[in-house]
Amino acid sequence: MIEPRSGAPGTIDREIPSSLNQLYQEVILDHYRKPRNKGHLDEATHAITMNNPLCGDVIELMLRVEGGSIVEARFLGRGCSISLASASMLTGRVRGKSLDQALELSGKFTHLLHGDEALLSDDELGDLRTLAGVSKFPVRIKCALLAWNCLEELGDGTDEDRGSA
Ligand code: ZN
Repeated sequence: MIEPRSGAPGTIDREIPSSLNQLYQEVILDHYRKPRNKGHLDEATHAITMNNPLCGDVIELMLRVEGGSIVEARFLGRGCSISLASASMLTGRVRGKSLDQALELSGKFTHLLHGDEALLSDDELGDLRTLAGVSKFPVRIKCALLAWNCLEELGDGTDEDRGSA
């Protein structure tokens, strides 16, 4: 059950568009307050840091890729609730996928944030769909896509790892 929010810090509330569905706001805040997979990944095979100067968000995405599959994903960073919640969701979603599959998911998520409402019924996106409302706020789109831009940068340079498995 999701409890009604009361007395949440105003600084967090201001970052999330108030027109977002309340349940969606709760999911985003939950990832922000209790980020999944946040921390350094010692045995990363891939790592990149990117920032979103418009908002001041910084995300470092670390992956361990074995045999073309992402076996571990973690992130570090600071920034607004949207950017950190999105990074938290990303790390949970890409583990176990091949890089190609992760990039395909990234493509879908990017389209969703650019307003492709047909993707709202795409189960593969799962809780990522809670960020769809951000599509109406262009400045926030960059926040939501920051971690995914990291993923795409990492994926671009790893053709040799993609494979036949
Ligand atoms: Zn941001």
